[in-house]
Amino acid sequence: MTDLPPVTCYHASNGARLYRLPAVVFPPGFVGYSYVVLEAGVPTLIDTGSGFGRSTDDLLAGLAALRDDFGERLRVTDIERILITHGHVDHFGGLAHLLEATGGARVGVHPLDKRVLTNYEERVVVATRNLTIYLRRAGVREERLAGLLEMYGFSKKHVRSIQVDLLLEEGTALDGMQFYHVPGHCSGQVAILIGDILLSADHILPRTSPHLAAESITHYTGVGHYRESLHKIARLPGIRLTLGGHEEPIDDVYARIATLQERLTLKQERILDILRSAPQPLSISDISKALYIDKHGFDVLLALQEAGAHVEYLYDRGYLAIANLSEFEQDDHAALLYTVL
Ligand SMILES: [Zn+2]
Ligand SMILES: [Zn+2]
Repeated sequence: MTDLPPVTCYHASNGARLYRLPAVVFPPGFVGYSYVVLEAGVPTLIDTGSGFGRSTDDLLAGLAALRDDFGERLRVTDIERILITHGHVDHFGGLAHLLEATGGARVGVHPLDKRVLTNYEERVVVATRNLTIYLRRAGVREERLAGLLEMYGFSKKHVRSIQVDLLLEEGTALDGMQFYHVPGHCSGQVAILIGDILLSADHILPRTSPHLAAESITHYTGVGHYRESLHKIARLPGIRLTLGGHEEPIDDVYARIATLQERLTLKQERILDILRSAPQPLSISDISKALYIDKHGFDVLLALQEAGAHVEYLYDRGYLAIANLSEFEQDDHAALLYTVL
């Protein structure tokens, strides 16, 4: 059994109190954080875990600790607002459980992830079809395709659709919380500035470079949007502390952003090197294998998405050409082969 980090309290410069609540969002030990914000309008919960395994129980235990360990006079039913930072299952999968526990809080999310919450079944079907087309074009063999698609759907089956009451658009200010649209990792990803504390969700993490997939699978994701969204946060002055959806707090977000940008550039240079030194044009699957050696299971799918996100970025900006254009013209299922221009 995974030992969870403790519930932690942070004080923002505008008087708000933020509590970080840990939960194992995917077994056996992938930890995600939700946050309770007090003294910024009505009691607000930000993100709800995955709803999977022990996630909701962990979260409810964290909420109980606010009263028992920190002396807050807060019951679960006092939470009037639940804000979702982005439409990934480890952040909103527990929403139905939390709505039940709170007795019907209002739900907020960015417009671009609203459909994920309100019409989840449709979203899964569309995203799975787009992913199928993507994987074929990436050069994944038919016999491997079904297995990868099954893994993709596995973590998503328990989620049901929910009504949305509030839209967290770029520039929205709500009771001392300022919302920034930072697409890339997810279309409707928002970061929330509360005084001098930034809740970065999965946009900026201290150790991991957030997962990126190609925009051809889901609009408003991809490397280009991600890099612009990093710039957006880098331009905000006075962020003292950054708290993410996973991993530990970040003291210097500006330095972390510079490192993340550098890593993206290095990865793109590496892809160009792989293509230059290959004896023949390569598919995204070939590039993925060269970039991410020894990946298994779900990690193969993540690697294929990540490699493709970078190939798309380079292709869109004129660094790459398609080597088998006539084959692609005649066959919908042909894998695209790339060369360096
Ligand atoms: Zn995410
Ligand atoms: Zn996450």
